[in-house]
This record gives sequence, structure tokens and C-alpha cells, in this order.
Amino acid sequence: MSALSLFALITLAILLQVAVFLGYRFSRHWQRYRQLEDAAQETAVDTAIPTAEKVSPPPGAWRDTRKFRVAERVVESPDGSVCSFHLTPEDGLPLPAFLPGQFLTFELDMPEGGKLIRCYSLSDTPRADRYRVSIKRLPAPPGRGLLPPGRSSTHFHDRVAVGSTLNVRAPAGHFYIGPEAAPVVLIAGGIGITPLMSMLEWCLENQPEREVWLFYGVRNGRELAMRERLESQASRYANFHLQFCFSDPLPEETAGRDFHHAGRVSLDLLRMLLPLKPYHFYICGPGPMMAAMVAGLEDWGVPDARIHFEAFGPASFKRRQPTSATEAPDPDIVVTFARSGVQVPWRPGAGSLLDFAEQEGINVDSSCRGGACGTCRTTLSAGEVVYHQPPDYDPEPGTCLLCVCTPKTNVTLEA
Ligand SMILES: Cc1cc2nc3c(=O)[nH]c(=O)nc-3n(C[C@H](O)[C@H](O)[C@H](O)COP(=O)(O)OP(=O)(O)OC[C@H]3O[C@@H](n4cnc5c(N)ncnc54)[C@H](O)[C@@H]3O)c2cc1C
Repeated sequence: MSALSLFALITLAILLQVAVFLGYRFSRHWQRYRQLEDAAQETAVDTAIPTAEKVSPPPGAWRDTRKFRVAERVVESPDGSVCSFHLTPEDGLPLPAFLPGQFLTFELDMPEGGKLIRCYSLSDTPRADRYRVSIKRLPAPPGRGLLPPGRSSTHFHDRVAVGSTLNVRAPAGHFYIGPEAAPVVLIAGGIGITPLMSMLEWCLENQPEREVWLFYGVRNGRELAMRERLESQASRYANFHLQFCFSDPLPEETAGRDFHHAGRVSLDLLRMLLPLKPYHFYICGPGPMMAAMVAGLEDWGVPDARIHFEAFGPASFKRRQPTSATEAPDPDIVVTFARSGVQVPWRPGAGSLLDFAEQEGINVDSSCRGGACGTCRTTLSAGEVVYHQPPDYDPEPGTCLLCVCTPKTNVTLEA
């Protein structure tokens, strides 16, 4: 045998060994993936996006509002734009446990008169004696003339002090993490960190073995909320993988020291870092970021039941293939606004019934525009409406939430 043939034989033998080794590793990995996948399917009923009926109020939840006192205020970001408010009940009775990811609704009596209703996510793990919300101050939008800053967030930052009393509705919401052991990826943009922080703290406290990733996108370190807490949890729990993504780092900030990745949280980054596992994804952040992430995850083959998201603003962001209530509306539907004496044919492209009312010059009080706060609840005297996603606020029978419904038949609304 020539030296060349011997060399070829040895190379072939090495390649064969490498192939056998890789094949073995892949089959082990695949088996583990299938086990996790099967376990996830067994709990699929619980982990799918729940319907309105499935989320009943937590035991001990109160009706209407309960009075809370601000026990502590904590500035959470170097630029001071995010502040946490720790709330204790005035009656001193134990608090119902909420589901990590849910929110509180505040009915604020404004000093200039009138009431303002706003939702804020609970940002801590459930405790019997206090709740925590973390609120970002919203300045006036730049370059748009003399517009006012955000009313509620400015009120909280400038006027709500330790000792202030607030009227608060019981925890609610369909965006929460389930108790199963499935590995989880939390994706936060800006102030969208708040419900994910609650999920993270709950997981680490109750399921320290569960694999949790947090991708947290901000412009730079000045905006980053709760850095110290996140870093200390990451160094304490080996199964918690923390990734800060800075889209516009400060000149003095360095990748690897102050943050993990330059740029926004992206699907490419997830694909690069995440091993092949049936993760559940929980996303909260600005609309465009969520739209990109959800579409990307769908393209990547992640099933709908494993993609969970919440928008803080209008319910304008929808899945490309809605999973519920896709029935085509009757093209001849007529909408009657009884109090305003207006009767008009429904336009399917109008958006929600709230958008439609506004386009017709009918004024309806609204706030979250996402089915969370109940401000736009309106009496439905005749006809039926359809919700394209289950609303978080449960409208009383005979009423509907205009911001998240469309007419199914001719309808008469007391507006
Ligand atoms: C389920 C849920 C959970 C939430 N959780 C959180 C949370 O944990 N933390 C948090 O900070 N927020 C959270 N939010 C958002 C929060 O509820 C409020 O929407 C937010 O604080 C802004 O309210 P605001 O009253 O301060 O601003 P608004 O007064 O409603 O104003 C909003 C923005 O519009 C601008 N504006 C004012 N007038 C005009 C005009 N004429 N034209 C154009 N722009 C104008 C304001 O300057 C401001 O930037 C959550 C929302 C929901 C629905």
C-alpha cells in the first residue's frame, strides 16, 4: 500500500469516527428534544393562550377598587425615567396571589379634576403584603409642537409620594407564565420588562431548575431598569441566561462589559444563541418589535401556542394568522349609535367599533385601546359583537368593549 493510500485510509477512518460521534450526539439531542416536546404537548392545554373564560379572578380578589398606600418609591434606571411604587393595602388584609405577568388597573383622581384609568403590570413575584408596579415617565413626543407629556405617568412620577393613597382594581390579564417546567425565553423591549420581571422572579423563586433566558433591549445603559437585580440573579442561578441588547450604546459603554450585544433583540440573535429546544416565548415591548419577533418566530416554526405577547398600547398588533374568531362579517351590517342618533353601515376596514365610532365623530371615553382597562365599555342594546382576542377586562352582560370588538350582526350601542 502506498503512503498516499494509507493517508487516505486514515483520513477516512477519522472522518467515519467523527460522523459516528456527531450522529450519536445528534440522536441524543433529538431524543431529549422529543422528550421535552412531548412534555410540552401534555401541558399544551394549560400553556396555550387562554380564553377569557379560563382566567378567573384570583381567590380573595376584590370587586371594584381597593385602597392602597404607597409604602416605598424606588428609582430603577440611571436616567430616572422608571420608578417602582410598592403598594400595601389600607385594610391590612392579605393580598390575593396574582399570576406572574398580570397587571393592576388604577382609577386616578386627577388634581385638575376628572378620573383617569390606566393599567400597570405587576413587576414582582406575588407577595401577601405588597404589590409592586414600575412606571416609565412618558415625555411629550418630540417635534410635534406643544403636546402634553403622559398624564398618568407624569402624575405618578411627580405627585404620587410615599403615603399617597390610590384606588386599585384587582389583578387581571391573560398574559402570564404557566407553572410547567418547559424552558422559557423572555423578550423585553424598554418598559416591557415589567411583566417579564415578575415572571422571571417567580420562576427563579419557585422553579430554580427551570431554564430561563431574558433578552432585554434598550437604547443604552441609562435606560436599563433593574440592572443590579438582574445581574445578581444571573450570577446566582446557573439556569438563568441574561442578555442585554443596546441599540445605541453610549460612547463609554463596551460590549462584553456593559452589555452583551450591540443592536436590537433579533431573531438572528435568538437563533444563534438558543439550543434546539421547545421553548415558550413571552414578549412585551413596542409594537414594531413585537410584530417583528412574533412573525420571525412563526417563520422559524415555533407553534402559536408557544408564542405569548402583550402590548401596552393599542391592540393594533395582531398575529398574521389569527387563531380565533376569524368568521367573515356580514357585509350589510348596520351600526346604530342610539344616544347620538347616528345610524351607519359598518365598514369592515374601519378597525374596531371604537375606531369606527371616532371616524363617525362619536366621542367614547377610552384609555388602553387593548381590552384591558374597561374604559370604553358600552351598553349593547341589540345585536352581537365578536372579539378577535379575548379581552382582559370582563365586560358585564349586555355591554361590550368597543376597542377590541367588531359587529357580528346589526348592533345598537348606547353611545
Ligand atoms: C396591560 C398593560 C400593562 C401596562 N404596564 C405598564 C407598566 O408596567 N409600566 C408602564 O410604564 N406602562 C405600562 N402600561 C402603559 C400605561 O398603562 C400607560 O398607557 C402609560 O403610562 C401612558 O399613560 P399616560 O397617561 O402617562 O400617557 P397619555 O396621557 O395616555 O399619553 C400617551 C403619550 O401620548 C402623548 N400625547 C399626549 N397628547 C397627545 C396628542 N394630542 N397627540 C399625540 N400624542 C399625544 C403623551 O405625551 C404621551 O407620550 C401598560 C398598559 C397596559 C394596557
